[in-house]
Amino acid sequence: MNFTADMHMHTQYSDGRGTMKEMMAAGIDKGLDKIAITDHGPNNIGVGVKSANQLLDIKKEALNISAGQGIEVLVGVEADVIGTDGEIDVPQSIYQQLDLLLVGLHPHVVPVDVEDGLNFILPNKFFGLSPGVRKRVIRNNTNAIIKVLNKHRVDILTHPGLNMPIDYEAVAKACVEKGTLYEINTGHNDQHFQTVSIINRVARSNVNFIVNSDAHYPETVGELESGWVLLKMAGVSPERVVNVRH
Ligand SMILES: [Zn+2]
Ligand SMILES: [Zn+2]
Repeated sequence: MNFTADMHMHTQYSDGRGTMKEMMAAGIDKGLDKIAITDHGPNNIGVGVKSANQLLDIKKEALNISAGQGIEVLVGVEADVIGTDGEIDVPQSIYQQLDLLLVGLHPHVVPVDVEDGLNFILPNKFFGLSPGVRKRVIRNNTNAIIKVLNKHRVDILTHPGLNMPIDYEAVAKACVEKGTLYEINTGHNDQHFQTVSIINRVARSNVNFIVNSDAHYPETVGELESGWVLLKMAGVSPERVVNVRH
């Protein structure tokens, strides 16, 4: 399958190994029309951008380096969910100036307060302990995502279910209501969070999908084929995948 764009990747400004220029060159090599640089939000421990303001500098750099290169280099952010009431780690005043807003659940973040740290983020370390804990964790994670989708204009929900379990059907339904794209992420080796059977269930909601590499190296930019294989096995038609070239 031929893809037009890869809208989720990281550079040295967060935990990626490549520069923006190297990621852009890789996108050109892969024949993409468009890439998006989407570094981690500032509350992602040890790997996030220095501050939300730095994202605006990254956007300026993208405009400078991409002029006349034959590829569009957009800049967004992969913001973190940091509370149970729709809080993310990038203010609206900043993300409105970016090209797109991605949001993902990550377990290593500075929460908005101690209570959300103890009751929402931390239990994700222990959800394997008992079905009761797992049930509570799924409920909290799912509610937190839905609150974020209701509060912010989120373009893409990244790797739903990775490391933090969710109610897939409820999350997909919320994505449909808000016009948020459901990401198929080809950048994680452990694919337990997006099996064929999970994607098949998610697809029944009529949600639209995007396949992204989540590249942390130039080598993996545009490596999207495995995402298409998965979607096809789950019975999803190419019309529902926004970055497939028709
Ligand atoms: Zn992520
Ligand atoms: Zn990412």
